[in-house]
Amino acid sequence: MLQIQNYLNGHLTPPRSGRYLDNIEPATSQVYGQIPDSGPEDVAAAVAAAEAALPSWRRLPAEERGRLLVKIADLIDANLEHLARAESQDNGKPLGLAQIMDIPRAASNFRFFGTAVEHFATEAHLQEGIALNYTVRHSVGVVGCISPWNLPLYLFTWKIAPALAVGCCVVAKPSEITPATAFLLSELCIEAGLPAGVLNIVHGTGPGCGQAIVEHPGIKAISFTGGTATGRHLAATAAPMFKKLSLELGGKNPNLIFADCDLAAAVATSIRSSFANQGQICLCSSRIFIERSIYEVFKTEFLKQLELQKIGDPFEADTKQGALVSEAHLYKVLNYIRLAHEEGGILLAGGHRVTVPGRCERGYFLEPTVFENLPHDCRTNQEEIFGPVVTLTPFDTENEVIAWANSTDYGLSATIWTTNLNRAHRVAQALHSGIVWVNTWLHRDLRTPFGGMKNSGIGREGGLEALRFFTEAQNICVKV
Ligand code: NAD
Repeated sequence: MLQIQNYLNGHLTPPRSGRYLDNIEPATSQVYGQIPDSGPEDVAAAVAAAEAALPSWRRLPAEERGRLLVKIADLIDANLEHLARAESQDNGKPLGLAQIMDIPRAASNFRFFGTAVEHFATEAHLQEGIALNYTVRHSVGVVGCISPWNLPLYLFTWKIAPALAVGCCVVAKPSEITPATAFLLSELCIEAGLPAGVLNIVHGTGPGCGQAIVEHPGIKAISFTGGTATGRHLAATAAPMFKKLSLELGGKNPNLIFADCDLAAAVATSIRSSFANQGQICLCSSRIFIERSIYEVFKTEFLKQLELQKIGDPFEADTKQGALVSEAHLYKVLNYIRLAHEEGGILLAGGHRVTVPGRCERGYFLEPTVFENLPHDCRTNQEEIFGPVVTLTPFDTENEVIAWANSTDYGLSATIWTTNLNRAHRVAQALHSGIVWVNTWLHRDLRTPFGGMKNSGIGREGGLEALRFFTEAQNICVKV
């Protein structure tokens, strides 16, 4: 049994209440660990520890804070296998995916922000002969970081690293559904020599523990990634307290396939962008719009390649599709499959729960599922499913597909496949999405702004945007 503890003031500690929640392995549906069921009193202790650590942490030269972050990155790299296995067991994702994506990207988050902070310059504005204005960026203070279950360590560190880099102290909560790698990270922070109280990790539910972080008056900014409904609730709680808020929320991302695309590349990448991590990546594209002249050929190739997506034990090397994260989530996705049938969708592939023989026979496995014949404005094509379910829809004109792509309440990411450079730029700029990929998907450059429009969130993470978010700009005007 993996007994997870909170990381408070530099130590691994049990929750004040002594209560624990079960941690379930999605591939087997078995309880395999215990998670602290922390509450407001644990959060208060974490905030007190962070406040005590703040003066000396924010006074440390940026290079020294950066050096510690790079040390944590090195430790993540050195423990890659252990962390990847823990992530796979906790989340249900294929071990191979955790090895090549989740854990290396978590290390690069620490390395990137640990070094970026050395290049984080402030501005000066000279009114010649009159005044000099210069901007000082103070760390916000104690901040809260709350993350979801789909890319557990990757998204957790994406918030924590920039906050620590600029001199904030952090109270962080990973998802109660996937807490394991955040716990292992606390052990690595102790090994790295991170000063006590600089980072505090409290485990528990959203209402019990996350809510206490959002409500605590000592927390000056909240960086949150999760569902849109939760984000709305968080904003309602935090706004009257005038906390800084960064909200990375849900999506319903379109994938536009034009007839002049490189078809082989479009099909291969669309399989990944539809079904990677069982479709449980906020950037996965769930609505595939295909220009009518290549609709049938794209569909045939897409369905052919789908057959190669082996569903199996996440620990097996050739598994491409692991388990969904929880039983509740599996049923949510199955309900959407039922809805798609009711809305007149024609099932082209998948649609059913799968039994994987052996140790995983009770796991939450679902076939990658493809529908066609659904209008762009039906619920299946408007609501976030967040699972391995996509729709194929033919289109006739560029304007039509742009309107359909923009027709949801979300605006996180979009993908365009075309070899026409003019079209690529034109369509990309017409899409209401914070991130647009052209002839690629999930391509990562940590310097770029990351985030969504409309109900997909407020603010941007990544690069200087993240460093700015965790600081308060102060302008000082000196008469010359
Ligand atoms: P969720 O909103 O249920 O939970 C996210 C986190 O918020 C968890 O740690 C949870 O415990 C916490 N939480 C829940 N209620 C809370 C409350 N009242 N106060 C404070 N914290 C609370 O989301 P989820 O199901 O874990 O994740 C899936 C969602 O996350 C999807 O909608 C997905 O699109 C979104 N997501 C977005 C991005 C992005 O970058 N935009 C990235 C990954 C996931």
